[in-house]
Amino acid sequence: MGSQAWIAAAFGILLFGCVPASSPHRPTEFSGASALEFTRQLVALGPRDSGTDGAQRAARWIAQRLRELGWQVEMDEFKDISHDVQWTFYNVVAHRRGARRDRILFGAHYDTKRGIPPPFEGANDSGSGVGVLLELARVGANWRWPCDVTLAFFDGEECRVAYGPHDGFHGSRRLAQRAVREGWSRQVRAVIVVDMVGDRDWTPTLPLNAHPAVLTALLEAAQTLGLRDRIRLAQGSILDDHQPFLDAGMPAAVVIDFQYGSRPGANDYWHTPEDRMDKLAPQSLEWTGQLILEAAWKLVGYPKAAHDSTPRSDVDR
Ligand SMILES: [Zn+2]
Repeated sequence: MGSQAWIAAAFGILLFGCVPASSPHRPTEFSGASALEFTRQLVALGPRDSGTDGAQRAARWIAQRLRELGWQVEMDEFKDISHDVQWTFYNVVAHRRGARRDRILFGAHYDTKRGIPPPFEGANDSGSGVGVLLELARVGANWRWPCDVTLAFFDGEECRVAYGPHDGFHGSRRLAQRAVREGWSRQVRAVIVVDMVGDRDWTPTLPLNAHPAVLTALLEAAQTLGLRDRIRLAQGSILDDHQPFLDAGMPAAVVIDFQYGSRPGANDYWHTPEDRMDKLAPQSLEWTGQLILEAAWKLVGYPKAAHDSTPRSDVDR
């Protein structure tokens, strides 16, 4: 180590000494290896194209995992028209009650893009999002949440031809409209959607079509976790499952790594047979899980572990 580096290191230690070494509420229990295993098991079920037996099989499998983890689960079967054909979709929605009646919602789609030849697995798009949310369900089952929490697994994110009012986002539009109709949309403090987050070269983008408070929380969370350098702010919009929630007046954002390819900056694995498990890394899923949890805590306050009965000043803000 050269002298300059040594001085920098010593200065770093001094600075670090001014802040708590670690918070007991940091989302360190979130395991990328476990999230990857959830993803692997989902992918092993086969294609999950909306309107097929494969999608229904995937929805039932997700619902069963959530029930085993102790969440209250609803399988929301509904019909929607796409290109003059009526299709059946399945949203899987899991709830846990928190200390307050406001709510945070995490979402990911589980359907695969239709028409991609084998060996397409939809591992990253969006088996990865499902893996992250199921791992969140596993660790979150042991917390006393500061507010109500909803995990939404959307069907019908992928469009058949081109995104429009009747093509794509069927599941997220369904849940956003239900939130308004059922009167709980006003209680939603944040909707955080994840999609394509397992790429080994983890460089997520935060697009501009997002609520400023949620966007800020995600950026601050990245800073807290030392991940800020990996995250790009997009110059424009990216349409994803958060958009119907924005359209319905709820604060929403998406975390999406839209550089999924054979070299940095490329997206040539997206919607191709190359989207397979061998492209994913547990570290990427772990960073994603920690990022969205840390952002959530910044928005709604920290949870307490079930065994932790010590009152804390940062719990009830
Ligand atoms: Zn896709």
